[in-house]
Amino acid sequence: MNSKTEQRIALISVHGDPAVEIGKEEAGGQNVYVRQVGEALAKLGWEVEMFTRKVSAQQETIVQHSPNCRTIRLEAGAVEFVPRDDLFGYLPEFIDNFLEYQQKNGFVYPLVHTNYWLSSWVGMQLKEIQGSKQVHTYHSLGAVKYNTIDTIPLIASTRLAVEKQVLETAERIVATSPQEKEHMRSLVSTKGNIDIIPCGTDIAKFGCVDRQAARAELGIDEDAKLVLYVGRFDPRKGIETLVRAVGESQLRESGKLQLMIGGGSRPGHSDGIERDRIENIVTELGMSDFTTFPGRLSQEILPYYYAAADVCVVPSHYEPFGLVAIEAMASQTPVIASDVGGLQFTVVPEETGLLAPPQDVGAFATAIDRILTNPQWRDELGQAARKRVETKFSWGGVASQLAQLYTQLLQDKPEQTQQQSSENTRKTAVLVS
Ligand code: UDP
Repeated sequence: MNSKTEQRIALISVHGDPAVEIGKEEAGGQNVYVRQVGEALAKLGWEVEMFTRKVSAQQETIVQHSPNCRTIRLEAGAVEFVPRDDLFGYLPEFIDNFLEYQQKNGFVYPLVHTNYWLSSWVGMQLKEIQGSKQVHTYHSLGAVKYNTIDTIPLIASTRLAVEKQVLETAERIVATSPQEKEHMRSLVSTKGNIDIIPCGTDIAKFGCVDRQAARAELGIDEDAKLVLYVGRFDPRKGIETLVRAVGESQLRESGKLQLMIGGGSRPGHSDGIERDRIENIVTELGMSDFTTFPGRLSQEILPYYYAAADVCVVPSHYEPFGLVAIEAMASQTPVIASDVGGLQFTVVPEETGLLAPPQDVGAFATAIDRILTNPQWRDELGQAARKRVETKFSWGGVASQLAQLYTQLLQDKPEQTQQQSSENTRKTAVLVS
């Protein structure tokens, strides 16, 4: 194998387009992960192509992000937005177009890194068809998700079966937190090779501005007590818990309390129902005069919002990792998060923020008041949060760990993979402890 081939990687993300605007409809952490990992790998000298599904005729087929990193949009079904739960039937066409792309360009990918269960199925077929090795990141586990929602979609049994199969057959699964690995083992399968490599964040961008300057830029009073949410509008994000908790804050009548709920698209999109529901709760609770909905926040403006806030709240019912938490922490803002999933890994309670049981309005209210009423402690938590992100969660560090993994897999003979995996697990366990 020549060195050019060794340094080539396909990141497959059928429903999470790495080149789109983040924060609206279904675009969130997965899109950011694929894009940032792709760009960081390219900086390390990898030739990176990120494959996703084309959802509109207006979209470019190829988006060049940097000389060695680009997004390729393949057709699969009608060129229109299709919710992820309805995409499975279009995957064979996606694979056909992937194979055609390879053929046109005269090479076969020896290794693919797939994202989310839909893409994992694509990776498993590529393994069958052409012997590609597979690294997989779940981003969300059906076995966990279906415990937190009332209506189980028709696709659930297929998803659960695919998630089990990829865990047992991929050369390596990347868990983004020890908690996610534990869920895979207890809920999906005891077989298969799992490494822990966390998600990352841009530590130069988040943390580039201090609270005072950020507030001046955004027109926020210096003495405001600002509680911030950033993320998609989805019932499982727990925004309702946050709103009700802020409604119970002891600072409510102080005239200083402000709640900002960032994210979401314009009316008429798929996330509009949840946004309407949340706005109605804000109105019902009489909180409209101190609550704002700035809408989708670009990655360029986000550092200002995080820095301006006294506290960032991540009230999700479940979160496999939760990028928003580390973005806020990198911005020296303490985080109050639900005591679930990856948030238990990123947020260290009483050191970089606080954890509260999911959906527990009273516990969130108490946590918010503890931080808002003690500015000195807020600053200490913020500084410790920044330090934690610098040492554990930079994209550069994440990409180096992935690059090491890819290199090892590309060099492995098929029979070595299983045996070397346990050594690798030990190595990464040291990295995350
Ligand atoms: N995001 C954004 N603008 C918004 C809302 C969210 O850029 O208005 C980004 C946010 O910065 C983060 C990602 O979307 O990088 C959300 O990732 P997370 O893992 O927190 O949640 P997910 O969307 O994957 O459930």
